[in-house]
Amino acid sequence: MYLIPFKPCSLCKDSSSQPGFLKIEDQGSILLKECECHKKWYENSKRLMSAYRSNFIISKDSLEYDLIKSHKGSKDLKKLEILNKYVIEFSEGGNKELCIYLLGNSNTQKTTIAQWIGLTLIRNGFTCYYESMHNFITRLVPTDFNDPERFKIYHDKLLSCDLLIIDDAFDRWKSNISSFQLPYMEAFFRERIERHQKGILWVSCVSPYDIKKYLSSESLQNFVVKILTKSKGLVKLVDSMEHIDVSTIFDPIGGDA
Ligand SMILES: [Zn+2]
Repeated sequence: MYLIPFKPCSLCKDSSSQPGFLKIEDQGSILLKECECHKKWYENSKRLMSAYRSNFIISKDSLEYDLIKSHKGSKDLKKLEILNKYVIEFSEGGNKELCIYLLGNSNTQKTTIAQWIGLTLIRNGFTCYYESMHNFITRLVPTDFNDPERFKIYHDKLLSCDLLIIDDAFDRWKSNISSFQLPYMEAFFRERIERHQKGILWVSCVSPYDIKKYLSSESLQNFVVKILTKSKGLVKLVDSMEHIDVSTIFDPIGGDA
């Protein structure tokens, strides 16, 4: 995990021998007081640590990623502006109950976008959890091999977090979902969305209208489609990542030597 280095501000830079702390005199004795910039840095580091434990990628790139500026392509910009607005409103206390479905082919940056949404919310003080549907379903369904204590902790964490992000959703090839697991999954979605009024962000290359085709569950498809219709949450991404020009890599001599 990438750790943001601490940079002291002009107030505390040379105040004491300890960066981030101010030297103050109090009735003849010298005390060290934590500077606001150090408090902020510490708080931010703690949030990033929690994001790391919730399966978010914490790197220099992921922290510097900007939903609009870092995006390549022009066809999805309007949709990204809507997602940006969703994150701003969420941060102000709204949108908790909304569900979103990021649909797109494998090169449409949908995982990067979903990671950015979760990471931004965590940095704004919310709890988010990121999981592939494969891990989600493997750990969610109780089996004889599951430790009941750990199962309950996982279940409660996924149920109570402010936003749950599930990647590779409903993808039969990546998730290996069996028919006996489907009712558990649907029951969990219903509990989180209907009973607790908390949203889910699904990320997938499978259309919600094809869930039945791939997983043979009409009831699950109907539920997801109904929820998305209500929240107007289906976002179809089409911009492909720019392909790297291979010729510039495999031409060490350069030109026509
Ligand atoms: Zn400072």
